[in-house]
Amino acid sequence: MPIRIPFPSVIVLVGPSGSGKTTWAEANFRPGQVVSSDALRAAVGTGAHDQKASTDAFAVLESIVDMRLKRGLVTVIDTLGLNAEDRRRWRQKASDAGMASIAVAFDTEAKICRDRNKRRSRSIPAKVLEGQITRYAETRPALDDEGFAAVYSPDAVVPVALGSWSADEVTPARRLRFGLQVSNFEWGDVSTPDSLAAIARRAEAAGFESLWVMDHLRQIPQVGPAWNDMLEAYTTLAWLAGVTETIRLGTLVTGLTYRNVGLLAKIVATLDVLSNGRAICGIGAGWFKQEHEAFGYVYPPDKERLDLLEDALQALPILWGAGAKSFEGKVISIPEALAYPRPVQKRLPILVGGSGEKRTLKLVAQYGDACNLMGGPDDVRHKLAVLQTHCEAVGRDRGEIEVTHLSPTFVYTTKPELEAEAAAMGMDIDVLLGPFSGGTVADNVSRFSGLSEAGVDLAIVAIANLHRPGSLETFGEVIDAFSV
Ligand code: GDP
Ligand code: MG
Repeated sequence: MPIRIPFPSVIVLVGPSGSGKTTWAEANFRPGQVVSSDALRAAVGTGAHDQKASTDAFAVLESIVDMRLKRGLVTVIDTLGLNAEDRRRWRQKASDAGMASIAVAFDTEAKICRDRNKRRSRSIPAKVLEGQITRYAETRPALDDEGFAAVYSPDAVVPVALGSWSADEVTPARRLRFGLQVSNFEWGDVSTPDSLAAIARRAEAAGFESLWVMDHLRQIPQVGPAWNDMLEAYTTLAWLAGVTETIRLGTLVTGLTYRNVGLLAKIVATLDVLSNGRAICGIGAGWFKQEHEAFGYVYPPDKERLDLLEDALQALPILWGAGAKSFEGKVISIPEALAYPRPVQKRLPILVGGSGEKRTLKLVAQYGDACNLMGGPDDVRHKLAVLQTHCEAVGRDRGEIEVTHLSPTFVYTTKPELEAEAAAMGMDIDVLLGPFSGGTVADNVSRFSGLSEAGVDLAIVAIANLHRPGSLETFGEVIDAFSV
C-alpha cells in the first residue's frame, strides 16, 4: 500500500545501521531533500565511518534542517533516529515551520542488518550494531505515541498536497507532469545563449519534462513590448537540444502561416533527429494579425487558417513517413512529400493549440496527439466534455489524447518570501500576483491538484518570476509533489 506523505513535511528515518534507510531515501527523494549524517561525516571528516567527525556532522545537519524548514522544503533526516531528544526537537521545528512531521520506522530483521553489516566494505563493530538493534527494539513501541503525524513502515511513497491530507488516506494522487514555457528573453546585461542554456539545464534537473517556446516574430502584447527580444523559435530549440540531455522540446505553438508546411516538417524532423527523438510538434492556426502584416505575410480569414490546420494535421505525418506520396488538401498541395531524414520517433506527437469548440477541438479528436487548454478546472472540464463528444462522433478514444494546459504562475518558497517581494516592490500580494495564479509552493500544489483532477496530464507553466534565483528549483518542489 503506498504511503501518502503530506507536502511539505519533515521525514525522520528511524532504524539501526543496515536497515535500509539510505537506500529508501535515495529511491524516493531527490538528493537535495535528504540530509544524512553519514554523508555529512564524509563531508567534514575522512568518510561516512569517521565517528570523530560526528559532532561536527550533526551540527551541520542541524543547520541544514533549520534552513530547509525556514523555506518550507521537504526534508528527510537520514540518521539512526534513535535519540528521543533529537526526534522531539525535529518535531518541534517542523511544527514551528507549519510542516507535518512523519517518522519512517525500519523494522528490518536484526539478522538481515547483521548480514548486511558484515558484507559492507566498512562494517561497524558488531557490538555497536547490537547496541543499535536493542535501542531500536526499545524505541519502536513508543514511537507511535511520540507526536509524529504518522509513523510508517517504508513502502512506496506518494507525496500529496498540504491541506488535502489525512493520515488514513491511501489513494494515490493523480500523476501530473510539468513543462516549462520560456516566453520572455529579457534577462538584462547577460549572455543570452548562456542564460538560455542554464535555464534549460536547471529545468531538466528540476524535473520538467518539456521545454517550450512561442513561435512569434516579435514579443506579444500579453508578455511585453514589441521591441523586446524575441528569439526565432526553431533556432532556439536547436540550441536547447544541444545543451540538454533528456528534456523534450517544442513550440507552443507554431503558427502555420509562417512557414510552408513541407519546410515545417523538415525543421521538426531535423530537430527530432538532432535531439535524439525529443521533438514535439505544436501547431495552430495563428492569431497575431499585426505581426503578419508587419512582415508582409498573408493573414488569411479564420476559415482558411483552420483549413490550413486541417491540411497540416494530415500532411505532416505523410511528410515524416516513408516514400514520396502526394498530398492534396483544402488549401495546400504537396506533389512529392519526400523528406529525409525521417524523425527518430515512430510517431512524432502533434499538439494542437487552441480550444475552439466547433472546429479546433474536432480536429484534435480527428488527428491530434495532444490538445492545449487554458483556464481553471471548470474550463478544463468543459473543454474536455466537448472533446469527448467530438471523439465519440469520429470513433476516437479520448484517452489517447494527451491533455496539456498552459498557465502563467509565480513561485515562492514561503508566504514570508512572497510578502517580502511584494513589499520590496511596494505592492499588495494580490497586485503582485495580478491575474497570475500561484504564489507559494503549497499554493501551486493545491492549484495544480485541481487542474490534475479536472483531467490535465501535462501542465506547462510560464514562471513569471523565472529571473528569481532558485525559482526553477523551487518549482521542482511542486513537481515532486505530483511525481507519483
Ligand atoms: P542504512 O544503514 O539503514 O542507511 O541502510 P542502507 O540503505 O545503507 O542499506 C544497507 C545495505 O543493505 C546496502 O548495501 C543496501 O544496498 C542494502 N539494502 C537496503 N535495502 C535493501 C533491500 O530492500 N533489499 C536488499 N536486498 N538490500 C537492501
Ligand atoms: Mg545509511
